[in-house]
Parts: sequence; C-alpha cells; structure tokens
Amino acid sequence: MKVVVMIKQVPDTNKVRLDKRTGTLIRKGVPSIINPEDKNALEEALKLKEKTGASVVVVSMGPPQAEDALREALAMGADEAILLTDRAFAGADTWATATTLGHALKKIGDFDLVLAGRQAIDGDTAQVGPQLAEYLKIPQVTYVRELIVDDGKVKATRALEDGYEEIEAELPALLTITKEANVPRYPHAAAIMTAYREQEVALWGAEDINADPESVGLKGSPTQVKRSFTPPPKEPGQVIKSAPSEAARDVVAILRQKNII
Ligand SMILES: Cc1cc2nc3c(=O)[nH]c(=O)nc-3n(C[C@H](O)[C@H](O)[C@H](O)COP(=O)(O)OP(=O)(O)OC[C@H]3O[C@@H](n4cnc5c(N)ncnc54)[C@H](O)[C@@H]3O)c2cc1C
Repeated sequence: MKVVVMIKQVPDTNKVRLDKRTGTLIRKGVPSIINPEDKNALEEALKLKEKTGASVVVVSMGPPQAEDALREALAMGADEAILLTDRAFAGADTWATATTLGHALKKIGDFDLVLAGRQAIDGDTAQVGPQLAEYLKIPQVTYVRELIVDDGKVKATRALEDGYEEIEAELPALLTITKEANVPRYPHAAAIMTAYREQEVALWGAEDINADPESVGLKGSPTQVKRSFTPPPKEPGQVIKSAPSEAARDVVAILRQKNII
C-alpha cells in the first residue's frame, strides 16, 4: 500500500507581524514550518505504515527552501520525498497548484491513498485537496478526524459543525485531515541527522511531470488577485461606568437611539 501526503511549507503565522505603515505582512525573518494539519495527515500515514507496512511518500510544490519541510517529514518517518520546484510553477492559484500536484501523482502512479491537510494556515482556502481529487477523478472525503483502511476501502469519520459523519470510499481516495485526528510525533535527533545527511529529496520540474507550462503557475491560474488590504482596526466600544441599575437604563437608551430596540 502506498500513501502519498501533500505537504505545504508555510510561514509560521504566529510570528508574522504587520507593517503598520504599509499594512502588509512582514515575512522577513519569519520561520517556515510544515502546515500544521499536513503534519496531522502525515501522522495518519505513519500510523498506517506501522500497522500495515505501507510506504509513505511526501510531496510538496514550492521554492527550493521547501526542501526543509520535506526533510522534517522524512525525519518523522516518511520513506520518500518529492519537491516540485520550477519557475514555471510560480504564481500558482489553487487550481494550478492542484493541477501540478495532480501531474506528480499521475507520475507516481501506484498510490492507494492521498492525504492532505484540511487547510493551509496562510492561503486558508481548503481548496487544494478537493481540487486534486477532482483532477485525479478519485473519491474525496474532507474534514476527516479518524480513518480505517480495510479490504480496498477507507472508512472515515468527518468532523462537522453539528456532529460526525461516517463515510466509506473505495481506494484510491483522497482525504483531507483535521487537527482533531491526532497529535503528530516529534522526530528524534538521530532521524533528523539521517534525513539531512543520508536521505534524498527528489526534485521534479515541469518537464519531469509532463506538465504543459500553460497549465501551471501564473499562466495556468484562472483567478487573479485584484487587491489585498488589511481591514481598518475596529473602533473601541463605548464603556458605561455608571452603577448597574443606571447602566442598564443607559444601555436601553443607547439601543433605542440607534433603533436597535
Ligand atoms: C492568483 C493567485 C496567485 C498566487 N500567487 C502565489 C505566489 O506567487 N506565491 C505563493 O506562494 N502563493 C501564491 N498564491 C497562493 C497559492 O495559490 C496558494 O497558497 C496555494 O494554491 C494553496 O492554497 P491554500 O494555501 O489556500 O491551501 P489549502 O487549499 O488551504 O491547502 C489544503 C491542503 O492542500 C495541500 N497543499 C496546498 N498547497 C500545497 C503545496 N504547494 N504543496 C503541497 N501540498 C499543498 C496541503 O496538504 C494543505 O494542507 C496565489 C494565489 C492566487 C489566487
């Protein structure tokens, strides 16, 4: 059984600050991390490896420095790592990202299960997993918190706002994993050294995955960002400092004045 896990390297948004003058994010000096829910996806794959002997391949599309994210995944226990990196992939929207990842999966070929994070903490669209399943024409189950693979099928429990849903799908299938699924393991120091010194990260460009340069990167992106801006900070609220009985009257008066009641 082969499980392929989609890994996106993202800026650690807890450490991103805002430039008050320009209103843009200051990315300089901000560490890059594996997107948190991709680690949950990888943890599920590693549990399957321990249980069934599955092989685990990690794939990322990104600039050369995304190799670090893949080495961390190797240190956690992945068997193989592939970085899709090429100038032709730059400026991709979610559609072109999914198309590129889809080409890579077609080249890998013999996968049984594709796992992605539910959502990336920087782009935040949660579109890439579902778009990738559409591209590959395989079943998809999103928001997965638990999964069992048995007899060519996957049984998955989805975490929804008002409860849980159990779904069964034929393999190969794509699942997007939520942070509820598990607590990802930490790699051991020795495994980190092995990942950097002995293991390889394969680098694939557009030609390697047989991708038409018109269908990937900016050229293959049907959406365009027209403007990005930071919403103005919210006005501070009105504080009523009078005694509780008077305060209640004051609040009612203000609400009446605003035609709220
Ligand atoms: C017009 C346009 C231009 C853009 N240009 C750029 C640009 O120049 N540079 C740039 O960095 N971003 C750019 N983006 C953002 C980029 O498209 C998204 O970051 C990317 O498609 C992933 O979307 P997301 O972050 O919302 O991921 P989500 O859909 O929220 O991610 C869900 C899951 O999909 C998987 N996944 C997502 N992206 C990848 C990846 N790259 N590799 C492996 N797995 C992945 C992960 O498992 C992740 O958890 C652009 C977006 C638009 C709309």
